[in-house]
Amino acid sequence: MAEAADSSLVLRIWGARGSTPAPGRDTARYGGETTSMEVLIGGKAVLIDCGSGARGLGNALAAEGVSNIDILFSHFHLDHICGLPFFPPAYNPKAEIRVWAGHLAPDEDPQAMLCRIMSPPIFPVAFDHLAACECRRFRPTERLMLEGGIGVDTIALNHPNGSVGYRFTSGDKTLVTVTDHEHGDPVFDRAIEDFVRGADVMIYDGMFDDSEYAAHVGWGHSTWQEGLKLAKRAGVRVPVIFHHHPDRTDDDLDRYAEEAARRHPGALFARQGMDIPL
Ligand SMILES: [Zn+2]
Ligand SMILES: [Zn+2]
Repeated sequence: MAEAADSSLVLRIWGARGSTPAPGRDTARYGGETTSMEVLIGGKAVLIDCGSGARGLGNALAAEGVSNIDILFSHFHLDHICGLPFFPPAYNPKAEIRVWAGHLAPDEDPQAMLCRIMSPPIFPVAFDHLAACECRRFRPTERLMLEGGIGVDTIALNHPNGSVGYRFTSGDKTLVTVTDHEHGDPVFDRAIEDFVRGADVMIYDGMFDDSEYAAHVGWGHSTWQEGLKLAKRAGVRVPVIFHHHPDRTDDDLDRYAEEAARRHPGALFARQGMDIPL
């Protein structure tokens, strides 16, 4: 008898911080690791970004014997790739890891870009030692087909050097990621509103508070308040504010999270170690 297809969708946060790791007593509850997410779709893990949180995630995957992995990169800023050299499955010659990048210019090669951070004397181990990794590039708006028949839609975000958002659908559930991204460009804003429409969960770049934004226009990041406004316009059920500023303490984030939940019931601020079932 055929088993019913598993359409479960869970988002697991391994790092929610932006820019640089921020460990310490004041950040223990929301966590100090930089961006790393695991999407469990029908029980299969798909990774988004390899910030410093990817070290713990890689250890967990290696312990479970998972060796066939797709990693979707939003982009290659350091906070999103710094965990790749410490991601154990990448060194396993028997593993198969597809590294996807869609933000690069036509003349930029993803492997050449990653080689730059993994080359002596910056780092003692060259990228060639990541025996399992095979780079694949795509153009945003293209639909990716991952191992196991998992389809993922993509969109370009507004960020210096480019960034890409992803949309996963399983059964009647939808998860979208919008990080790193700055609101305010009407062409991007319109396309992104359509892209996230009706999503159950939306990861959103809330690096700044509205009161800080005027001093950071053009930095490529948004505010948590803009995330809530987008969620309302697009009928997103649960906005999850992400990419927290490294100076933000747990108490700061608690305060914002309370206010966010008042404005949009169900809204969350991402915490390292958090599971969000859809
Ligand atoms: Zn970032
Ligand atoms: Zn960035």
